[in-house]
Amino acid sequence: MPAKILDGTKTANDIRGEVAAEVASMAAGGVRPGLAVVLVGHNPASEIYVRGKVKACHEVGLYSEPHTPPESATTAELLALIEGLNRRDDIDGILVQLPLPAQVDAKKILMAVDPAKDVDGFHPVNVGFLSTQRPGLVPCTPAGVIEILKRSNILIAGQEAVVVGRSDIVGKPAAMLLLNANATVTVCHSKTRDLPAVCRRADILVAAIGRAGIITRDFVKPGATVIDVGMNQVTDPAEFTRLFAGNARREATFRAKGSTLVGDVHPQVAEIAGAITPVPGGVGPLTIAMLMFNTVKAAKMRRGNRVPELAQP
Ligand code: NAP
Repeated sequence: MPAKILDGTKTANDIRGEVAAEVASMAAGGVRPGLAVVLVGHNPASEIYVRGKVKACHEVGLYSEPHTPPESATTAELLALIEGLNRRDDIDGILVQLPLPAQVDAKKILMAVDPAKDVDGFHPVNVGFLSTQRPGLVPCTPAGVIEILKRSNILIAGQEAVVVGRSDIVGKPAAMLLLNANATVTVCHSKTRDLPAVCRRADILVAAIGRAGIITRDFVKPGATVIDVGMNQVTDPAEFTRLFAGNARREATFRAKGSTLVGDVHPQVAEIAGAITPVPGGVGPLTIAMLMFNTVKAAKMRRGNRVPELAQP
């Protein structure tokens, strides 16, 4: 039986609706949460991501303020910008779009963001809060993974969860959130021995690798839930054929655009998984929805108010 498709777009729209209602009730009390987005230089992919984030802010009623220092910006200049934003009461969230230009000390910049406004959840203070199960700001993509599992009524407690990828942005916080939700968690990476065998233990398999379709059928226990975080542009026709041969819709897109977006999970996995997130339309939309949620959460926490309830722990 083919897997149940976990619709990330729908879940993200539900979350955005809840955030918009929360923003409206804060506005009635005279508070409009604000997000500052810092985009340095002209990275085309970053410009697209930032446009999406600013648009989402408008849609849920958040104030958003783009800052676009030039490609030549120095660490000192960016530190001054961040410190100014830290001091402003009308700014609740600060997002620094990565990557930063090579001359900038990115770690120094991320460390300078006030942890109370760190809506990406990357600051070591928030990492510490997550690992010690204290209230804080949780990285958006892994928080979205937990939301879609919970809202799809997929049991986490007591389940075997395997996370492939150990980045600070996705893999490690996803593993920590699953552990906090009482899964038995294994984290895999490029040095893991016999990756397929470890993955086959999973009731919940999270792929956050960055390799198109690397998770094939033999990595997946029949009936498992598979969350595909990967976002990879495939341009090589041979690679395209390995992934999508016989898929008329994808073939048409590939012919027209010369590329297609694919996750880390091979499409054939949908034939044996119990539930699976598609790419596109899975984890991607959830990331922006959770950024909106984090901005409201930051605004509430900074004012000592109750934080909005979502399914996440
Ligand atoms: P990353 O920092 O490059 O980390 C990749 C991880 O995968 C590393 O831990 C690496 O292991 C592991 N890995 C690489 N090759 C492997 C292999 N052959 N076998 C097992 N493990 C392997 O990437 P990331 O930032 O976490 O992103 C991962 C993917 O998620 C990318 O496709 C990215 O575009 C996507 N992403 C999507 C969203 C979204 O909103 N949907 C958000 C963020 C990221 P080592 O540590 O040993 O090198």
